[in-house]
Amino acid sequence: MRYFGARQRVGRENLVTPFDSADFDQHESVHFFSDAETGLEAIVAIHNTALGPAAGGCRYWSYSSSDAALTDALRLSRGMSYKNAMAGLPFGGGKAVVLKRPGGPSGALFEALGRAIDRLGGSYITAEDVGTTVTDMQAVARATPFVSGLAGSHDVAGGDPSPKTAYGVFLGLQEGWRYLNDADLEGVRVAVQGLGGVGYHLCHYLYEAGVRLFVSDLNADRVRKVQQEFEAAVLPPDVVLGADVDVLAPCAMGAILNEDSIPRVSARLIAGGANNQLATPHDGERLRKRGILYAPDYVVNAGGIICVASEYLGEGSDAEVMQRIGRIPTTLREILQKADYETLPTSIVADRMAQEVLSRKARPQVPAERGKAGLRVRAL
Ligand code: NAD
Repeated sequence: MRYFGARQRVGRENLVTPFDSADFDQHESVHFFSDAETGLEAIVAIHNTALGPAAGGCRYWSYSSSDAALTDALRLSRGMSYKNAMAGLPFGGGKAVVLKRPGGPSGALFEALGRAIDRLGGSYITAEDVGTTVTDMQAVARATPFVSGLAGSHDVAGGDPSPKTAYGVFLGLQEGWRYLNDADLEGVRVAVQGLGGVGYHLCHYLYEAGVRLFVSDLNADRVRKVQQEFEAAVLPPDVVLGADVDVLAPCAMGAILNEDSIPRVSARLIAGGANNQLATPHDGERLRKRGILYAPDYVVNAGGIICVASEYLGEGSDAEVMQRIGRIPTTLREILQKADYETLPTSIVADRMAQEVLSRKARPQVPAERGKAGLRVRAL
């Protein structure tokens, strides 16, 4: 196992470093890991630890370049600082990105990631994100205690965070719709982009609420399942963002709301689980100008991190975690009201609120120790 720097990947004349990235934004540290035996190539970005050790999921993804992977790690990591701050969690923001290998991931690869994370001494705690599963996190846990999303028990919630994320997104979407129309979701047309862990469970909640679903995914099996279970109409991936619906719920990848796509959006509300939905900070203003209400992603998709944080600290039954997630609509309403009052994009208001929480806190306030439940799970 060794650290490597971006300078090994490009000619000296093209030298890029994390400091050069537009998304560096005062990251406390960025770590590059490789492991020849397993082929691991990973980036761990730690944005801010003012509230506690950095916590954020691990993404396993195929990137067009190592630059793209770094940008994703930096953007996701900063998003976690804001998400954890707004959710009132005693954790800072960080994220791991593992470059996807041909042939798929192995337990050995994630164990190597675990060894890498262990070397960070508890300053970063990982869990699931796009492309990673409970099994992968169990492999990580063979090498380090600094991991969550392993398994729940009868008195501590845990395991795959996606259903909890979906629950928070559902509550946020419902609150956004109430804010706009003072009405419930019965008969409302919602387009869901991405039917993975979060999107699938969100469809379930929306269906139960009487929503008319329009769905899209690159994976035909996932589309078929949702179509059958929730009577959803199917949209091709290239039209979902501009679909003639009332609400858009992005639950796939980031940066999908941008200069090109925003003029095509016909939904009046955007509320989804995907991280970093806005391609740039200007896109919040683009949405506001078009009269589209945007529920800031890291506010409404905090359910998963609330759950894995509880699991890590060994506190919080399923009911207690659901209750904590139930506070998301109150936070969202405060943001929406402030944004209206100050004629600002909701994204800017949320960022300011998160930055205020971060600047109020001195650094590390909680020990980077697992709670009882986590230690027990690790021993399995
Ligand atoms: P996932 O990998 O389980 O599912 C993502 C789905 O999106 C896949 O089915 C994929 O085929 C689909 N997809 C990708 N590009 C698409 C496109 N252009 N059009 C339509 N479908 C597309 O991931 P997930 O865990 O459900 O996470 C989804 C998003 O939510 C991610 O942005 C993730 O970072 C964010 N998020 C997840 C959690 C969590 O608990 N899993 C928590 C917070 C935020």
